[in-house]
Amino acid sequence: MDDNIVSTDRLTKRYGDRAAADRVSLTVRRGEVYGFLGPNGAGKTTTLRMVLGLVKPSGGSALVHGLRPGSPEALRRTGSLIEGPGFFPYLSGLENLRVVGRYRGLGRSDAEEALERVDLADRGKDRFRTYSLGMKQRLGVAAALMGRPDLLVLDEPTNGLDPAGMASMRRLIQDLSSEGQTVLLSSHLLAEVQQCCHRVGVIVDGRMSFEGTVADLRGARVLRVRAEPGDRAMPIVQGAAGDVEQNRDEDGRAVLTADAAGVDVPAMVRKLVADGVDVHSVAVQERSLEDVFLTMTEAGR
Ligand code: ATP
Repeated sequence: MDDNIVSTDRLTKRYGDRAAADRVSLTVRRGEVYGFLGPNGAGKTTTLRMVLGLVKPSGGSALVHGLRPGSPEALRRTGSLIEGPGFFPYLSGLENLRVVGRYRGLGRSDAEEALERVDLADRGKDRFRTYSLGMKQRLGVAAALMGRPDLLVLDEPTNGLDPAGMASMRRLIQDLSSEGQTVLLSSHLLAEVQQCCHRVGVIVDGRMSFEGTVADLRGARVLRVRAEPGDRAMPIVQGAAGDVEQNRDEDGRAVLTADAAGVDVPAMVRKLVADGVDVHSVAVQERSLEDVFLTMTEAGR
C-alpha cells in the first residue's frame, strides 16, 4: 500500500503572469500531521484547493489517495475545512451537522459521533450563533470528520482564535492524530506547527523552501559558552567542539559559539575550570524556529 496519502509533483497555479503556487512538490504520509507553513499570501490556500480539486492546476500534478483530486472516491475519503465553515446561525450545532450529513448521504448517528469527537456534545443543542469562534471552528472540523475520511485538510484552523481556543484546537488535532487520523493543516504560526506536527513543508512566495521534520528544520543545536578570559577558554572549547566563533556579550565577556553536536559538556567545563577559566554560563540551544523561518523568508525574496 502506498504510504503517501497526498503527493504533488511540481503543482503550479498561475493567475495572470503571477504564480500563486510555483512547482510545489510535497508528500503527506499516512498517519502523520503535516504542517504546511508559510506567511500570508505564500500560496497555502491555493495549493490546498488544488489538492481538494477545487482549483484546476496550471501545471504539474497531484494525487490524493493515489487518485485524481476532486474525483468522487478522493472526495469521499477526504474531509476539509477551508476558509471558514458555512453554517446556519439559527440552527443548533447538531442540526447543522445533520444538514451536512443529509447532503452527503450519511446516517443521523454520524452527526452525534462527530460532535463527540470534537468535544461539543454538551453544546450540540445550542444555536450556532451562540458559539464562540473556537467552538465554530471545532464544529467545522466536526463537519469535515463526518463519514470518517482518511485525510483531513484544515486551512488555518486556528486563525483568529484566542490562546485558549488555539490550545483547544491543537489538543483536538493531537487527539485525532493519536486515533490514527492523517491531517494536512496550514498555518502561518511556527509555534503551532512545532507543537502539533510531525513533518513540515515551508512555502514562501509560491515555492517550497523546505520539507522535513521540525528537528530537521531547526538544524544543528548551538553551544554557547560565556567565559573569561576568552583566549584561554578558546583552545579548550575548540578541542571539545571544533570550529568556534568568539564574540562579546553586552557586559564585554567573551562568548564562544560552536556546533553542539557530540560535545561532552561536563568534560569541557571541568577542563575550563581546571585551567583557571571563569565560566559564567554554558548553554546548548536549539535555533529558534523563528530564526530559521525568517532566514528562509528573506532568502525567498
Ligand atoms: P493566506 O494565509 O493569506 O490565506 P495563502 O498562503 O493561503 O495566504 P493564497 O491564498 O494561496 O495564499 O494566495 C497566494 C497568492 O495568490 C496571493 O498573492 C493571492 O493574492 C493570489 N491569489 C489567490 N487566489 C487568487 C485568484 N482567484 N485570483 C488572483 N489571485 C489569486
